[in-house]
Amino acid sequence: MAHKIPATLIPGDGIGPEIVSATTAALDALGAPFEWDLQIAGLEGIETAGDPLPADTLASIRRTRLALKGPLETPIGGGYRSSNVRLREEFQLYANLRPALTIVPGGRFDGIDLVVVRENLEGLYIGHEHYIPIDGDPHAVAMATGINTRQGSRRLLEFAFEHALATGRKKVTIVHKANIMKALTGIFLETGIDLYERKYKGRFVLDTVIIDACAMKLVLNPWQFDVLVTTNLFGDILSDLVAGLVGGLGMTPGANIGTDAAIFEAVHGSAPDIAGKGIANPTALLLAAAMMLDHCRLQAAAGRLRRAISATLNLDQVRTGDLGGKSTTAEFTRALVRRIESDA
Ligand code: NAD
Repeated sequence: MAHKIPATLIPGDGIGPEIVSATTAALDALGAPFEWDLQIAGLEGIETAGDPLPADTLASIRRTRLALKGPLETPIGGGYRSSNVRLREEFQLYANLRPALTIVPGGRFDGIDLVVVRENLEGLYIGHEHYIPIDGDPHAVAMATGINTRQGSRRLLEFAFEHALATGRKKVTIVHKANIMKALTGIFLETGIDLYERKYKGRFVLDTVIIDACAMKLVLNPWQFDVLVTTNLFGDILSDLVAGLVGGLGMTPGANIGTDAAIFEAVHGSAPDIAGKGIANPTALLLAAAMMLDHCRLQAAAGRLRRAISATLNLDQVRTGDLGGKSTTAEFTRALVRRIESDA
């Protein structure tokens, strides 16, 4: 295959190392030309280097501008700030692309083919939060500030619209809550409509929907949607919702695309409840690796990987527990590698 492509590899926390090793085994079987630079972050970063995002990890991504990462643990409530959010900020990864595609038919919803495009840097995720103490209660009042900018909204909407055109999508739906958060999400809606009218009108259908109605419509009739584009927090929630339409979090990949780098990962987290048991489904990270191959213009290898995943799940019926199967991560990986090798 082509010349070597330097890339940072972060195994991550919980099930991260298990699904990352399944994914590198598949990439090796494909002969993918990645030259991995192994780095740490998250809880492992704290435990090994005293920092959830060590300087060496940042330096590596600055050099390679490309990373594949396992999930990173973030403490709930207090503790250190999310390494994922810091990575997005550091490398200006403003677009989070989260496709949901039915690979295993016969579930509650069949034939799903949706993409959630989530703004990744602004909104309520900026972390400007504090408490106001009253009468000895240090947490009497909690406050959060959300910020959305015209420029940030425009570049993400432009990314979503261009992605829709490049992938032959017919409809883009802007998801908002501009009836209540008139400024915070109104700016996103207004910017999207304006951009469409000026540059994209007639090239695909543009629709708008309020987030709560969108959640209901996604469960009643998800086939009415094609590309959903939305602000940070809504995108986070909706991408888990659409993951549920295609068999759960084990099935949905994510790409964080920015001006300075691209980082590929699963939508799910570190799954501490099943970590170390050898039963995690590596499919989401494998699909993220397929997106990474596409990003590097290695479409043939990406297609081969996607075909092998589908054949392993459907023809061989090798499935992990989250999909109703009995296979371990290792058994799934062996079957997948056999499929990749037989489709050379
Ligand atoms: P989670 O996604 O880790 O797990 C939710 C449920 O889905 C669990 O029951 C888990 O067992 C199951 N699940 C997830 N991935 C699976 C897989 N590949 N195979 C089989 N089952 C799977 O969500 P959580 O428990 O809310 O979060 C755990 C930690 O992960 C938290 O610290 C959170 O901050 C972090 N997190 C990280 C990322 C990331 O790194 N991008 C994303 C989400 C959550």
